Amino acid sequence: MPDSSANLIIRGGRLIDPASHINTPADLLIEDGQVRRVGRDLNVPRGMPVLEAAGLIVAPGFIDAHVHLRQPGFEHKETIASGTAAAAAGGICAVAAMPNTNPPPDTAQRVEEARRRAAGALVRVYPIGCITTGRLGKSLAPLAELARAGAVAFSDDGDPVEDDELMRRALELGRQLGVPLFPHEEVKALTAGGCMHEGQVSARLGLKGMPGAGEEILIARDIELVRQTGGPLHIAHISTAGTVELVRQAKAEGLPVTCELLTHHFILTDEEVARQGTQAKMSPPLRSGTDVQAMLRGLAEGIIDTIATDHAPHSAEEKSRPLEQAPFGIVGLETAVGLTLTYLVHTGVLDLFQAIEKWTWAPARILRLPGGHLSPGGLGDVTLIDPNKEWTVDAVQFRSKSQNTPFNGYKLKGKAVATVVGGKIVYSELA
Ligand SMILES: [Zn+2]
Repeated sequence: MPDSSANLIIRGGRLIDPASHINTPADLLIEDGQVRRVGRDLNVPRGMPVLEAAGLIVAPGFIDAHVHLRQPGFEHKETIASGTAAAAAGGICAVAAMPNTNPPPDTAQRVEEARRRAAGALVRVYPIGCITTGRLGKSLAPLAELARAGAVAFSDDGDPVEDDELMRRALELGRQLGVPLFPHEEVKALTAGGCMHEGQVSARLGLKGMPGAGEEILIARDIELVRQTGGPLHIAHISTAGTVELVRQAKAEGLPVTCELLTHHFILTDEEVARQGTQAKMSPPLRSGTDVQAMLRGLAEGIIDTIATDHAPHSAEEKSRPLEQAPFGIVGLETAVGLTLTYLVHTGVLDLFQAIEKWTWAPARILRLPGGHLSPGGLGDVTLIDPNKEWTVDAVQFRSKSQNTPFNGYKLKGKAVATVVGGKIVYSELA
């Protein structure tokens, strides 16, 4: 974790803190890395650094609960240093790191190593532990030990846990430990060889598709297993209209089921693959327009709990391979806030309060993380947003080591202009 003992007063902004139902002009005083006071016209203690926030939104530090930092094992794509610099530049104060590293965090020692490796990082890094040993889907990892070592959730992300009994036992342990299962849901037999959504566009392009059923079948199974076990399920990156309905029903039943949506899945459709090739290749894939509409409705109706990026850096060489062979995934940390403001807030799908909630209090609550709110005693993590700043995405300027984004050249409205972690300014565009 970063050195988080700094002092700072953030003055004159509009404070939006969904956790404490605050949406009002207010100053924020951070002492020793923690929120000390919130209120109008706070006195500035002598020697206290001041961040002037007139015209800006002062939000709890954004949490991206779905990030691939690639270290150890794939440092040519990203490192903890470059990935957390990208997070800071994107207004993200904390990330939960997915475990598809090499080696993966499937033992307590490896989770502890992951925490040590991220100790000096620019933003907070929370490790997600594996569900199965080696992420191979064959035997359960020692989940209780991983949780004790600091794993905030369990996932084999990138791969599903297809074995029903393994997943049932994982959910049982998740309930006992109070740690959510955060699975990647995909029936590999249905998606094998696919490189995009199965639909009219894949048919037109003559490409093997990945049907929505590949996602929905495993989610339906896991909801049934939650019904049996009571284990907490946070479904990673939902992408189909059918999934939204499954989650809606599960919630109506009162099951401990929550879900995550990625920024690209509420904006782009599978048509983007025809336009941008591998820059639009990810798993789950970009779906149909009907699915994107279902995501927007699911957000507005509160069926979808959190927004994340699935920041998945790959080198230019890897993404220059033919569509069938290039790896899945796009980067997202540096476009997350801009895309959220442009496509959800300025379009009226969500108001700012709701959008901020899905990036802060919701992931903090679901993953039981210490941040996500600005009440006194909480972490001094703050994302400062200029909701009306117009800017153009330029991937060459990214802090990330990788530039694989379908949003290059997009004109966006709304940007994180300063990022504060533990009272320390880790990124600022302010004078
Ligand atoms: Zn995934």
